[in-house]
Amino acid sequence: MSAAKVDANVSEIPARIAELGQRVLGGGQVTREEALELFALEDSADIHTLLSWGNRIREHFKGNKIHLCSIVNAKAGACSENCSFCSQSAAYQTGSPRYSFVDPEPVAEAGEEANRNGVTAVGLVAAWRGLKEGPMLDEVCDRIREMKDQGQTRPDASLGLIESQEVANRLKEAGLECYGHNLESSERFFPEHCTTHTFEDRLRTIGFLKKAGIKICSGGIIGMGETREDRCDLAMSLREIDASVVPVNILNPIEGTPLEKQEPLPPLEILKTIACFRFILPRKEIMIAGGRTVNLRDLQCMVFQAGASALMVGNYLTTLNQPVEKDLQMLRDLGLDPDWTEFDPNDAGGCGCDEKESCATTEVSETVMA
Ligand code: SF4
Repeated sequence: MSAAKVDANVSEIPARIAELGQRVLGGGQVTREEALELFALEDSADIHTLLSWGNRIREHFKGNKIHLCSIVNAKAGACSENCSFCSQSAAYQTGSPRYSFVDPEPVAEAGEEANRNGVTAVGLVAAWRGLKEGPMLDEVCDRIREMKDQGQTRPDASLGLIESQEVANRLKEAGLECYGHNLESSERFFPEHCTTHTFEDRLRTIGFLKKAGIKICSGGIIGMGETREDRCDLAMSLREIDASVVPVNILNPIEGTPLEKQEPLPPLEILKTIACFRFILPRKEIMIAGGRTVNLRDLQCMVFQAGASALMVGNYLTTLNQPVEKDLQMLRDLGLDPDWTEFDPNDAGGCGCDEKESCATTEVSETVMA
């Protein structure tokens, strides 16, 4: 390659990233084809240029506040579904804990702990196919009301597929403001990691929730063997459903699951994906959730420079996270502000996004699975 050609490439790629970044900063959108150009970047210098633009876009739309969330596993293991990344599926021998839907006490304890750590919302997560009318729905609604009455954190939930509009309406009446329901991957790749339900089932659930006036926390898992195009299409689908909070999980391969031997994504590929998500979803709360410690190691703090604006703290559903104090120190060292917004039980809540027209309120939590 001639020197002139090298010089042209050196200036063309950063200029193209800058062109797209300026457009996003100005309120415009990137198309799927343009986003794919960003996902295709290979050179580490170009990727670092992309990350710096992810950071600028985050700063522009989200400021330097980092939203914190945590979850409580309200029902563990023995799930009827066969998601190939999940240690809680009954289809796999993983040694993951199994227990039925929890009593009020552990939920109250999770609320107190979250409140002590400045975490605004706690997501109630259950490993099962989903929710339909019946005694279990009554119990779920009781836990949501108890959390709300406790007044320490905002109750959110991730309870799987929802079978009808009535179920979504009942959750709303109980006081639920945000529901976590990941699309997990692109529509094309979905059957590769789950065959007991479909991408379409997930979209249907999201439709019921939106109609009930419940905000959507929806993202996915990267590193399952999907292509960059699949990651791009996941982000485009999340833009389409207008998810308020977008959790990005990175596969942590669990022994006993079909993905136990999956090659991990290189950390720079993960950071690039986060930056691409920020370009596609500039105003949304992009939350780094499961798998960050094991996959990113010392580069964890760079997720914010790539464009992430929220962090799941405390332990994940079945794997351990680093101590909350360490995460808080990391944010302080980066000059970022943990979002210490105190939970106000009289506040209507919200999602933290800046889309005031479609989102009238201001914060939310996350979920990892279900
Ligand atoms: S991801 Fe959720 S639905 Fe899938 S197996 Fe795990 S708990 Fe069940």
